[in-house]
Amino acid sequence: MGSILGTVVSKSRNNVRVHAVGLDYLCFFRGKVRGRGGGQLPIAVGDKVLISITSSGEGIVEEVRPRCSELVRHTAGGKPVVVAANLDQVLLVLSAASPSPRWSLVDRVLVASHRQDLEPAICVNKTDLVRDDQGMVREIESRLALYGELGYPTFSISATTGHGVDPLVTWLRDRLTVLTGHSGVGKSTLLNRLNDRLDIVTGALSESTGKGKHTTTAVSLYSMPFGGFVADTPGFREFALWGVEPADIGRFYREFEPHLGGCRFSDCLHSGEPDCEVVQALKRGEISKERYDSYLRIMRVHSAG
Ligand code: GDP
Ligand code: ZN
Repeated sequence: MGSILGTVVSKSRNNVRVHAVGLDYLCFFRGKVRGRGGGQLPIAVGDKVLISITSSGEGIVEEVRPRCSELVRHTAGGKPVVVAANLDQVLLVLSAASPSPRWSLVDRVLVASHRQDLEPAICVNKTDLVRDDQGMVREIESRLALYGELGYPTFSISATTGHGVDPLVTWLRDRLTVLTGHSGVGKSTLLNRLNDRLDIVTGALSESTGKGKHTTTAVSLYSMPFGGFVADTPGFREFALWGVEPADIGRFYREFEPHLGGCRFSDCLHSGEPDCEVVQALKRGEISKERYDSYLRIMRVHSAG
């Protein structure tokens, strides 16, 4: 039997699980592929691989295809570790209620995504809980409109009723998406809805331990029946922003971009320097106050470090 092309969906010490033509195969490596000292397998979740299937139904990894991109996390010692390969985009999930939306997270995730060259989108879940709260509905609509005007895809959904999920499926199809958002916003419920063969435990806290469900930092990919994968990536926004330079953060605010060349100082942080074109654009109303304020907050956090 010839080789088939698949995607690594999870990884453990000695083997990987590969999704290929609709099935998952437990796959092994031939011979010695580890470096000296028996280190990690030289493969990451998201890698495209050619596998051959043995008579017992397991796979042998024959070839790892070159990566288009890598998401890297730095260990406490600063050593880079590839978390996942070939990611395309990031879906930030907020909830309309319980817990109420944490809008301050949005710009952090947008900056983190742009820094990693991933295309972000914003999804508000649990809209069924606010149907009768006109004030909240308007608030959500106006926030999403701001991001829509900036060119970001936005979705309003209910993972439990399925309302609004179709356009999200269109956006997810055939791509490799990182799912991020606070605990309890409905990420697991959404994954279960997107793939009815999944049965991920939902509910913000595990009753037995009182801890969140994510106790590991390991990444796994969920294959989608409509094509593509969704990555459960604990800690994405923290490590995606690791080591970002304050002077670079403005580059990740897309509406700042046309103004960046106009500041007097080439290393302008747009925080009170003279002749700052970004602040001029803010005064002219071309940059929103909320976005500018969030820029200052993110920039200051990273200046302090
Ligand atoms: P996660 O921590 O982000 O994975 O969130 P879960 O998927 O575990 O959901 C947390 C809680 O919110 C669970 O009790 C879900 O049943 C509930 N939930 C998730 N999505 C919705 C929704 O669209 N509407 C309502 N009313 N509840 C939801
Ligand atoms: Zn400036």
